[in-house]
Amino acid sequence: MNMMIPKVELHVHLDGSVRLSTLAELTGLSLEEVQNQAVTSSSCQNLEEYLTRFSLPISVMQTKENLRRIARELGEDLMKDHVLYAEVRFFPLAHTKEGLEPEEVILSILEGFQEVEIPIHLILCMMRNESLEKNVEVIHLAKRFLNKGVVGLDLAGDEENYETSLFQDLFHFIHTLNIPFTIHAGEMASAESVISAIQFGTSRIGHGVRSSSSDKALELLKEKQILLEICPTSNIQTKAVKNIKEHPIWKFYQMGIPVCINTDNRTVSFTDLEKEYRLLSTHFPFTLEDFCQMNQMAVASSFASEEEKRSVNATLEQYLKQFKEWR
Ligand SMILES: [Zn+2]
Repeated sequence: MNMMIPKVELHVHLDGSVRLSTLAELTGLSLEEVQNQAVTSSSCQNLEEYLTRFSLPISVMQTKENLRRIARELGEDLMKDHVLYAEVRFFPLAHTKEGLEPEEVILSILEGFQEVEIPIHLILCMMRNESLEKNVEVIHLAKRFLNKGVVGLDLAGDEENYETSLFQDLFHFIHTLNIPFTIHAGEMASAESVISAIQFGTSRIGHGVRSSSSDKALELLKEKQILLEICPTSNIQTKAVKNIKEHPIWKFYQMGIPVCINTDNRTVSFTDLEKEYRLLSTHFPFTLEDFCQMNQMAVASSFASEEEKRSVNATLEQYLKQFKEWR
């Protein structure tokens, strides 16, 4: 199958997607050392271990120049991967260690994105393991930059020790501010986490793979047409699923639950969308039409403007039409 399909990516972390060559240049370390520190190993046991790979990139993402460059390079990498539209996420307060204001962090990244030709928007992550004050600060930042480069919020981090239900008040507050959001849920914790996220009114879920063990979660996802942002390689590395054959993406798709394909972290997971599509098409009977349909599902649940959605959908439809003519 030709993997040059036009794609949409909604779940990719900026700090997990810094080019290895850039990390080497900015840290002065060898490429090999950078790889050891920033790419997950095949012996990775869990999400906790996976998350240790972010320290090195975050250490160099502390100046306007570096942030702008890293954002631009990710934009270029997305274009090489035939991405038409992307939402990139990060926790802005991780980048203020050398004195930058959070507003400067966000503006520098947006400048980098503006240097590439596809629309790329930001999702600001709140972190499960951070204080309420910091997460409220992220919410205020999202409100301030809403539709000025930022399109929504997310909740990321250690799901096992900080369960989703603890964040009810935060999401109630987000509702009152009318900020779109997605939530990492059902990655390391059970389907209950997904059910909590749905109760908070989310229209999207990061991963959600553990939903497959709960009829209630599956029914809710289908009934409410909640999009699961699936990241196959990452799910295997963090042991969210045992192996690709046991990945529930096929089951979700067959059931009529919207799903889309993402990398999660291009560097930490050492992947891109072409690899993810290839992995899925090797192990499941997905057709090119299925992949195009998933991208349409991604567009429908994205935080893009109506105009952007129309434009991306038109390209996807055009591609599918040409593909049918070639056949
Ligand atoms: Zn993620």
